[in-house]
Amino acid sequence: MAFITLNKDNFFYNLNQIALKIGSVDKIALVLKDNAYGHGLQETAGLAHEFGICHAVVRSRQEAEQIRSLFDTVLVLGDKAVWSDNCSFVLNSLEDITAAEKGSKVELKVDTGMHRNGIPMEELPKALELISERALDLVGLMTHFRSADELGSELFWQQKYFEQVKAMVYEAGFADIRIHSRNSAATLRMNQCREDLVRIGIAAYGYNELASSFDRVALKPVLSLYAQRVSTRQLKKGERIGYFGDFTAPKNMIVSTYDIGYGDGWRRGDSTDPYITAEGVPILGRVSMDFITLETGEDEVCIMANAQKAAQHFGTISYEMSTALSPLIDRIII
Ligand SMILES: *Cc1c(COP(=O)(O)O)cnc(C)c1O
Repeated sequence: MAFITLNKDNFFYNLNQIALKIGSVDKIALVLKDNAYGHGLQETAGLAHEFGICHAVVRSRQEAEQIRSLFDTVLVLGDKAVWSDNCSFVLNSLEDITAAEKGSKVELKVDTGMHRNGIPMEELPKALELISERALDLVGLMTHFRSADELGSELFWQQKYFEQVKAMVYEAGFADIRIHSRNSAATLRMNQCREDLVRIGIAAYGYNELASSFDRVALKPVLSLYAQRVSTRQLKKGERIGYFGDFTAPKNMIVSTYDIGYGDGWRRGDSTDPYITAEGVPILGRVSMDFITLETGEDEVCIMANAQKAAQHFGTISYEMSTALSPLIDRIII
């Protein structure tokens, strides 16, 4: 069966680089949403705990339940706020505040310019009033940057708005709250961090998505994807492979099928512009639901060892390459 390896040394190396950058391990909140960007929620959470990470970020309560015993705090990005001793919930709108269970720990997300989620700055006074009225336990204040990974001033004006937001929240009498705004790109781009947390996703998994014009911290990919040989056959010159026979053998050749396909979250791609595996072997013909064909007889092949490189081929981003991988594939820590 196809399998995924997680390189523990590389993961710890990345976490260490981030800790060095911000001057502390304690400030790292590791983003484990969407099956830890495809790396495996349980496996990644276990490793993070071993490294000494105290804070996690997930998408749903269901994810939080699976890992919350390993962390001091777990921030849930997209689910209804309920009471919990160590989970807090992001409030993205006034409706979220109204829906939150009394006494639940909440963190207010303010929209400082990304215009995706979060309370608009004009609604902030109303939001703070509602939070008090509904006796919610406000433990955090956050925002999200829309283009921290691009050159330009956008990040800086969003930061300026966030300063205003902080002042308003303190003025309203909320004191003991943690402040956080930085994702991987903002963390890698800026020096020092006076805030209480950084929310690190992609960088921990080994990808620095900053443009090469930035002075970039080198990181190491954690995930590799392998497939195993299903069958091998001898093709004669002119014989064609797979659906629609997109690939025609230019010579007599020995080919094998391997057990990975679009059903596993691997990309189907375009057979006229074949993906070349981490070991330099092009995929022949169309990708099937469960199989690909390669000109090799190896029992095991490495399909992808660098999601950023693969993403370039498919015209997407490293995040999508790893996150798409089926949770049913075994994750093995090496
Ligand atoms: C996913 C997410 C992050 C992590 O972003 P990376 O670019 O992977 O570091 C941080 N904050 C929020 C609110 C997110 O949704």
